[in-house]
Amino acid sequence: MKIEEMITADRADCSGCAACANICPKNAIEMVRDAEGFAYPKINPELCIRCGRCDATCPALNFQEKKASALPLTFAATYDDDKILRHSSSGGIFSALSEIILNDGGIVFGAGFDKNWRVVHTAAKNFDELENLRGSKYVQSQIGDVYRQVRSALKSQKVLFSGTPCQCAGLKNFLGGDHENLLTVEIICHGSPSPALWEKYIDEIGYAHDITHVNFRSKRKGWGAVININFADQGQEFRSLSDNLYTSFFMKNVSLRPSCSSCKFRFPNGQADLTLGDAWGIKNFAPEMYDRRGVSAVFVHTDKGKKFFEQTSLKVKQVKFVDVAKRNKFFISPTAADSRRKKFFNDLAENDDWFAVMQKYYAQDDAEIRKATAKKNRVAFIRKLRAVLAPLRQNFAQNLLVVSSLREGAEQKNLESFFEQNTQDCGLYFLQPKDAFVCAENFSGVVTDLKDGAALTDFVKQYNIGGVCVEKPLNFGESFSAIVEWLKTCGLPVKLFAPKK
Ligand SMILES: Cc1cc2nc3c(=O)[nH]c(=O)nc-3n(C[C@H](O)[C@H](O)[C@H](O)COP(=O)(O)OP(=O)(O)OC[C@H]3O[C@@H](n4cnc5c(N)ncnc54)[C@H](O)[C@@H]3O)c2cc1C
Ligand code: SF4
Ligand code: SF4
Ligand code: SF4
Repeated sequence: MKIEEMITADRADCSGCAACANICPKNAIEMVRDAEGFAYPKINPELCIRCGRCDATCPALNFQEKKASALPLTFAATYDDDKILRHSSSGGIFSALSEIILNDGGIVFGAGFDKNWRVVHTAAKNFDELENLRGSKYVQSQIGDVYRQVRSALKSQKVLFSGTPCQCAGLKNFLGGDHENLLTVEIICHGSPSPALWEKYIDEIGYAHDITHVNFRSKRKGWGAVININFADQGQEFRSLSDNLYTSFFMKNVSLRPSCSSCKFRFPNGQADLTLGDAWGIKNFAPEMYDRRGVSAVFVHTDKGKKFFEQTSLKVKQVKFVDVAKRNKFFISPTAADSRRKKFFNDLAENDDWFAVMQKYYAQDDAEIRKATAKKNRVAFIRKLRAVLAPLRQNFAQNLLVVSSLREGAEQKNLESFFEQNTQDCGLYFLQPKDAFVCAENFSGVVTDLKDGAALTDFVKQYNIGGVCVEKPLNFGESFSAIVEWLKTCGLPVKLFAPKK
């Protein structure tokens, strides 16, 4: 069978790895996006010389199932460099391995952002450039001509290539096998969402604000699944992946590439030296390894992978394969596509306004999730306020709750003295700096569950809160007016304030 026939028969067989486009000696293959926004090869018959190299290279056409002779060595590991660990999605192992390669004069390839926040495979030649590759991007990355760049780099230096299992397979097929200078690192892969969907989303939200930073796995609240997008006007998006407009479709398997639901490259059929993922549930099988900044699961498939992994300075513990694999099913099993996938993409194909379609589905389908989140947040909020207000209550006649935006260092001190000068006998609690969004979410959570505000009013009485000061403007977006309205309906004297910057 040939690539064109394969794609015509079933597009789901093509992972979009772009090995065919990279191998073509005549540059006759272009990766062109379909109506769903995923790239597929398109052959230009005028340039094609029918050499057959694309067909011979395609990992899907030439797929041969492997038999696992033994289970891979499995580790829980953390790179104990605070800054790097906090900016990595899991335990920072990708960075630890990359540093070995860079220190040896080598080069690292992985998924990064371009200047318009598109996700592309690109190179890092030094530690500064490595920063852009750090962290998961839940978007199918564009490979471009990176396999050719890898081949050329391998002639003179060590190379680390990191990507999805299908991209690692694409590279190995493109190279025609392994290379002594090459280390391949794949991620456990839930699946890759449509890049066009991400671009429509980011362009829409970026239009109003100007995006300054994107982190799909923010650790501001610790290791978990929270996306953070910062805007130049100080606003931000800080939400669980299940609750964000774009990532909710990733989490629910609505926006993934068709090939992901029949993925051929999961264990034992991957071709990489190492697989990295999250060591979810680590507290249950190696509690001494738990770190609230993140812990990785590492599967070692080859001697070369073992050699590099042993050279890292990591906190490591060997664990049982089954303990990790059973908590991270995507290492072995493909992701089942959501039943709404087809309708979702059909709607997108028929509409110019993709953002509106996303909002429609989000509103319909995620109401349940938001209800559950709101409930969870309400409980956490009450618990937290109780803890912080108890000591205040013992020292002051009246307590004041201040809801303000992110502040740091001296700015925070200025804000405190603003209140000291303007209030008397008050214990202050600032819901900030990093609590700001938690607070916004929790407030809306309380609104949902305590409609008449009676329980909150009791709570406020019990803890002797004399008033609530809400900073204006507050970078909570629409939540601002919701917070103020809600506090008023609870009978609390709400004061707005705007301290000098
Ligand atoms: C689309 C996607 C799905 C994932 N699904 C799971 C899962 O189900 N379970 C799980 O345990 N882990 C999953 N991961 C992996 C996990 O999120 C971490 O990336 C991994 O544990 C490595 O973490 P780290 O801290 O070592 O390094 P990090 O610095 O977080 O890893 C960064 C490297 O990961 C690779 N990467 C990031 N985004 C992409 C991308 N879009 N395409 C190709 N490669 C990329 C890069 O090359 C990047 O440089 C997924 C990652 C991605 C990108
Ligand atoms: S047959 Fe050869 S020339 Fe034609 S597209 Fe494939 S690799 Fe390119
Ligand atoms: S090489 Fe990759 S992109 Fe090309 S047809 Fe095969 S699976 Fe698709
Ligand atoms: S799930 Fe499989 S096909 Fe989909 S991106 Fe991951 S490795 Fe590729």
